[in-house]
Amino acid sequence: NVGGNVRVVVRVRGFLPREVERGAECLIEMDPTNQATKLLVPPSSDPANTRANTRKVFEEKSFTFDNSFWSFNKADEHYAHQEDVYNCLGEEFLDHNFEGYHTCIFAYGQTGSGKSYTMMGTPDQPGLIPRTCEDLFQRIESNDSPNISYNVRVSYFEVYNEHVRDLLVPRQDPPYYLKIRESPTEGPYIKDLTEVPVKSISEIMRYMRAGDTSRTIASTKMNDTSSRSHAVFTIMLKQIHHDMDTDETTERMARIRLVDLAGSERAKSTEATGQRLREGSNINKSLTTLGRVIAALADPRHGRGGRKKDIVPYRDSILTWLLKDSLGGNSKTAMIACIAPSDYDETLSTLRYADQAKRIRTRAIVNQDHVS
Ligand code: ADP
Ligand code: MG
Repeated sequence: NVGGNVRVVVRVRGFLPREVERGAECLIEMDPTNQATKLLVPPSSDPANTRANTRKVFEEKSFTFDNSFWSFNKADEHYAHQEDVYNCLGEEFLDHNFEGYHTCIFAYGQTGSGKSYTMMGTPDQPGLIPRTCEDLFQRIESNDSPNISYNVRVSYFEVYNEHVRDLLVPRQDPPYYLKIRESPTEGPYIKDLTEVPVKSISEIMRYMRAGDTSRTIASTKMNDTSSRSHAVFTIMLKQIHHDMDTDETTERMARIRLVDLAGSERAKSTEATGQRLREGSNINKSLTTLGRVIAALADPRHGRGGRKKDIVPYRDSILTWLLKDSLGGNSKTAMIACIAPSDYDETLSTLRYADQAKRIRTRAIVNQDHVS
């Protein structure tokens, strides 16, 4: 059993040109020895951190996570490269997949905090998704046992405005969106979602890029970056073991989910202002519900007794419904809290969110079947 608590890590990125221009200061300190992350009080001169209508003062805050990735300046000896994030988290999760466990890693944080960089990365600096794909096929190709064979399939979809869009084969004609169904044994699933078999690293990379391109095209059409959509890349790994001596065949099935969430600022803005924009309320629904699901699961009373209060509102949004298993069920799960270096309010909210997620427990089991 590799359940236990959700693994929560934090990563801070370096300054973007616009932050250098406004003379921003880094408000984050990380202690590499104890994984503590500190959020400092911003200088009053920084326009991004001035509070117009409140007398509340800024306070220094400290948090501890399972890992703190310092990606602020490359010159630093503690700088966390893409490779370090993979070696520290991705590799271990892939180990679990080969043992037959489902895993899920999701990136949370405000727009521009480094979620897509961490999950997908760039061609020069590949992130967790391409590294997982590459490592997966390296492991498969280095298998020299004639008793084991593998079957890999991938899917890629996004949740936008409470609709599911297939990113591998985007629908060109209505209905553009896919429907969700719930099976008594498999739980919620997306009807007719494209799931393609892949046989090589180059093939899986091609699908990954094609899916990313359709995400970008869609968000450009809607005059938006990908900040409003949740992208879910899924790899299904099936291992077939055939025991020559007993002539017995067993299958192990692992689902690898890698999720790039919508910008977290979208969760609050409508709540805070009570806005009821027709589109806005929908756009934020999955993210606000994710917050409520995390809060319910993190509640120390959760799981004790069958009181009504214990009900986790998975079904209140498309994303939480689909990720139900990854959030509170059969999965080993990690959350990467991505933060910008000089944004006090957004960073504090992300760190608090992440802090709460630490208390969630999941129960992963080996997904194994005897087939003959
Ligand atoms: P998000 O997906 O959270 O909106 P991005 O991943 O697009 O944010 O990151 C915003 C910008 O910051 C991009 O230009 C990205 O390349 C850059 N960036 C983010 N994290 C890092 C990092 N660790 N190192 C270098 N550049 C980064
Ligand atoms: Mg992004």
